This record gives sequence, structure tokens and C-alpha cells, in this order.
Amino acid sequence: MLKGKDWPVIGDKFRNFPEVMAEVLKDPNVALYTSKPVDERLLYKVHTPEVVANLKSAWYYEGALCSVGGCVEALERICRGEIVNALVFNVAAGHHAGPSYAWGGTYVSCAGPMIVNAREKFGVHRFAIIDTDSHHGDGDRAMFKGDRDVLHVCFCSMNAIEDEGTKVDVDVGWRTTDEEYLEKVEREFKPRALAFKPYAIIHFFGHDTCEGDYGDRGLTPSFYLELAKLVKSIAELVSQGRYVVITGGGYRRDVAEYVFPRVIRILAE
Ligand SMILES: [Zn+2]
Ligand SMILES: [Zn+2]
Repeated sequence: MLKGKDWPVIGDKFRNFPEVMAEVLKDPNVALYTSKPVDERLLYKVHTPEVVANLKSAWYYEGALCSVGGCVEALERICRGEIVNALVFNVAAGHHAGPSYAWGGTYVSCAGPMIVNAREKFGVHRFAIIDTDSHHGDGDRAMFKGDRDVLHVCFCSMNAIEDEGTKVDVDVGWRTTDEEYLEKVEREFKPRALAFKPYAIIHFFGHDTCEGDYGDRGLTPSFYLELAKLVKSIAELVSQGRYVVITGGGYRRDVAEYVFPRVIRILAE
């Protein structure tokens, strides 16, 4: 249901999914789940009624609801011990959705409903969010402002440390290299995650930072594989491997088709 539509900002980059994952789906360590719409009551726990009403009046409502539903389900399956990590294909939802606003192609929060649901159902409280989309994750930041049980480390164009070190922005620069960026993740995210000891890591995984995309920071397609390996290795150190990757920004279909089947292979290793 993600294909064949011109989704806000990211277009039809999932046009050839799940077919392009045919090889990796044969791996006995990989399972494909079809996302179901999230329980709307969860949305009202994190958003004002206006945000939910605006979403419901938009044509991409169903896609956004299923995206959030997939995110919530992925973390639930991890909490139940059925799986250790997951990649969620996402449209129209994500890091620009705060409690009272939503913009920039993401019209409902992913992390908010995931975390509220996991806390209520499973009593697990501490989560780390790493945001490597090109743009600042203002919505997630607003969603967890003052919540010291959420570590939010966002790689964007700002430098900031807030909320007693639990909310961090790292300026990666507009012309960086794969190596420089990975080194920044190693230096700015890893020690914080080690000290924080989250139950799980949630990764807003945009590829709009790729050369030629709309958030171009000069990265190559293979960067995203190295990034997934690195954050997975950090999850193995801090959260027993519990790690959810959520697709974020990025318009280039060739990059999506190259990166995501390989990231799934990395997660399954
Ligand atoms: Zn972005
Ligand atoms: Zn930021």
C-alpha cells in the first residue's frame, strides 16, 4: 500500500517494494509484517485534537496511520521478545510532528505513540532516539521536551545541549564525508547512549543527506549501510541489540532500493 502514490516530500520511492527485497526476505532470520493502522487513541495521547483532525482530513491519512501502526507494533514485538530489531517503512509520519503541530512531510509522530505505548503496556521507560535525517527533528524534540527518560541525539545543522544532556544537536555541516559523519555518530551518540542505558534505540533514518537528494550533505549510498552497522553495534552494547529503524526523508528511489534491503540484511546478521 506504500507504492504508487506521490507521498508528501518523499514521492513514490517505495514503488518497487517489497519486490526489491525478494532476496533478503528468503533469509530465515527475516520476517515481513504488514503494518496495520495504529489505534487512534494512542494519537490523542501525544497530539492535540487539531493535529489528529488535520491528519484525518488529508488523503495520506491511511498511509500515515499504518506507518505509525508499524512503528508501534515493531517496538511491541521487541518488548515481547519476539524480535530484536526491525526496520519500518514509513510515509507521511515522523520527526516534524510535535504535540501541537506537524509539518514537513511528517504529519503525525512515530516516536511519541511508540514510546507511550511501550511504557503503558510493558513498563519500559528509557529510550534513545537517534535522528540522522538531514533536517532537525523539531517535532520529536518538542514531544520529549523535559522528559529525561528520552535521550534525543539529532544530527542536523545546530549545536545544542538541553535538558541536562538528554537532548543534543550535532552540526554535521552541509559538505561532509561518510567518514566524518560516522565519526561524529561514534563520538556524539555512542558515549551518551552508553551512559544513558536505554531499553531500545529508535533511529529516524533519513537518506535525504545523500548526494543529489533534497537534503544533500555529500554522503554516498554506501554510507547508510555503515551507519546501520554502527548504530546496531551500539545497540548491542547498550540495549541488548533492541533497535528500530524508521525510514525518514529522502526522495531518491535508487538510494532507497539500494539501502533498505541491505540494511535489513545487516539487521538480520
Ligand atoms: Zn529531512
Ligand atoms: Zn537537530
